[in-house]
Amino acid sequence: MNKKQSREKLVTARKRAIFSICLNLFLATIKGVAGVVSGSAALLGDAIHSTTDVLASTAVFIGLWVAGREHPSFPYGLYKAETVATLVTSVAVILAGYEIGRQALFGVPGLPDVTLALPVAAFSFVIALGFGLTQLRAGKRLNSPALSADARDYLADSFSTAVVLISLALVPLGYNIDRIAAGIVSLFVFYAGGQLFVSALKDLLDASIDRETEREIIKFVEQHPRINRVKKCFSRNAGGRFLVDMDVVMHTPSHKTADLVADRLEEELLMEFPGLVLARIRPHYAPGKFIKRITPVTEPEGEVSLQLASAPWFLVETIRTDTKEVKKRQFVENRYKDAEKKKGLLVGRWLLKLKPDELMAVDKDRVAIVLLKEAGVEIVQPSSDTSTTI
Ligand SMILES: [Zn+2]
Repeated sequence: MNKKQSREKLVTARKRAIFSICLNLFLATIKGVAGVVSGSAALLGDAIHSTTDVLASTAVFIGLWVAGREHPSFPYGLYKAETVATLVTSVAVILAGYEIGRQALFGVPGLPDVTLALPVAAFSFVIALGFGLTQLRAGKRLNSPALSADARDYLADSFSTAVVLISLALVPLGYNIDRIAAGIVSLFVFYAGGQLFVSALKDLLDASIDRETEREIIKFVEQHPRINRVKKCFSRNAGGRFLVDMDVVMHTPSHKTADLVADRLEEELLMEFPGLVLARIRPHYAPGKFIKRITPVTEPEGEVSLQLASAPWFLVETIRTDTKEVKKRQFVENRYKDAEKKKGLLVGRWLLKLKPDELMAVDKDRVAIVLLKEAGVEIVQPSSDTSTTI
């Protein structure tokens, strides 16, 4: 997925999230009005539930907005702002649940007037269920956990509204279970508030990110030609986003290259993982016993090729760092030498997979050479003293 596509997805996800808030606000209003007019505690409770959902979603937006601000006292950014907003909201939701429950238990009993309440409850149920299902599909398509969570909440809401709908439908038949329904609605609200509270608590206590994402990040880093392995990986959640701190072992000819590789990897990680807000990579320098050198050649045991991407063969040598003794020699055929397009890029990437430390090459501005150089591969001139005796 390229950058433009991922930005479009982000914009679509944001639009859907805003629409979701507006829809909940609308549902809260009509249910609230109908609840008061008809005297149904259950429908009023359901309206309060929708209001708390609006509050929770708004808190996320405010949190995201504040998190982007810079302040000298908060060098990591205000990434916990969303957590604080969630915590405050969860308390508000739990209080709302308590109030609905209290009304259900001790409120003034009465028979609800269903002429307005019944159609409003039926309409709200259909809308919440329908929107929840489309939102669930959108969440999967856009790969957005936030939208999927929102969708699940709508589906849970439709369940709560269904309880209210059933209680109202029973009124014309002579049954009044309005307060029981209100009690059930209060349980839904308690559950929603509890979930918010737990997720805020996890963020506050720096729970690590899910194992799968962590594995993906480690895999991405270890694919780099200069990285031997990831020694340690610390991660923590920050709302829907996360931070990582890594100790990596790399084999490089110098500390300077190690720093360069670490800096570039940090940037690449931020681009590759949209939820990542901060990446720190601490390089550990491990020169290693051997280095791998690649030389473009005209044929096996032939001369050094002046071209890189078009070289028909490559000599791959494993050399002892202390004695400079060649431990292993191998000739590999350039599988991309006849590529018509992007030959430099294809050859460069393929050579990187061989994890070389050194590359013999003349021409410095070819795509392949730049690619290898940026990855921290030492570019060696064949004219220098090192083994021109091929
Ligand atoms: Zn809800």
